[in-house]
Amino acid sequence: ANPRVKSIRALAMKKNRDRERLFIAEGEKLARDALDGGWHVDTLLYAKSATDDDRRRDALQSLAATVRARGGDVLLTNAKVLTAITKRDNAQAVVSVLKSQTAAAATVTPEGDTCWLVLDRVRDPGNLGTIIRTADALGVTGVALVGETTAPFGLEAVRATMGSLFARPLVRLSRADYLALAERWKGHGGHIVGTHLAGAVDHRTIDYAAKPLLLLMGNEQQGLDDEMAASCDLLALIAMGGAADSLNLAVATGIITFAARSHGL
Ligand code: SAM
Repeated sequence: ANPRVKSIRALAMKKNRDRERLFIAEGEKLARDALDGGWHVDTLLYAKSATDDDRRRDALQSLAATVRARGGDVLLTNAKVLTAITKRDNAQAVVSVLKSQTAAAATVTPEGDTCWLVLDRVRDPGNLGTIIRTADALGVTGVALVGETTAPFGLEAVRATMGSLFARPLVRLSRADYLALAERWKGHGGHIVGTHLAGAVDHRTIDYAAKPLLLLMGNEQQGLDDEMAASCDLLALIAMGGAADSLNLAVATGIITFAARSHGL
């Protein structure tokens, strides 16, 4: 019945997240990662039961003190409320409400030694979160989302990032923004590598050390359409040996990004 808790629960819906520019992250690790990354914690909630253990209590109290010092609120609550907020049985004992932020489109530039990962209309929140986590782990400059995508600040996507959401810039680009960027990319000495089931280039043969590098991934159902494919100077195929038609988007992203990392990312 607590109106504050009600409004936090309402953040499960995208329209409320967009209106409030707030979202929910589960767990102590994500709260700490968010603070380390300079994100604003609007409210930190934690279950009283988590403070039974002395060491945990001290850690949570110091986390709460940091949140307060940076202008956030702290609510001591219980497991039932956290379950209701996260819509999960066995909810984590710590939940934070964070201010959502994306970097400006102009952050994605072909200047310098950069490697951007660009996702065309990614639809699955688990894929998006896993890709953001992988991109962070492999040292990609940032992740750009083109066109209509799944909500990056939804519970499932945030959960799948495991804190990497706070480590690298996340940018939204319209399709027109992306196509203009792709034009600018040419002539800077690097590549735009699109991954495509009809790709003519074996992904293992690409010179990923040539920068700036842009890796473009297609939509889960439709892949890259002709215009998006034409924006690339290389279309790479990850050779497959079995009966599967294609790889899962997040897996394909991991493979190409790992190849890029192994060759100079
Ligand atoms: N039906 C879609 C198609 O025809 O492209 C399948 C898309 S696949 C599930 C999603 C994305 O993962 C593709 O657009 C591509 O970016 C990447 N992908 C998956 N398997 C790939 C492969 N073997 N080689 C290159 N890219 C691949």
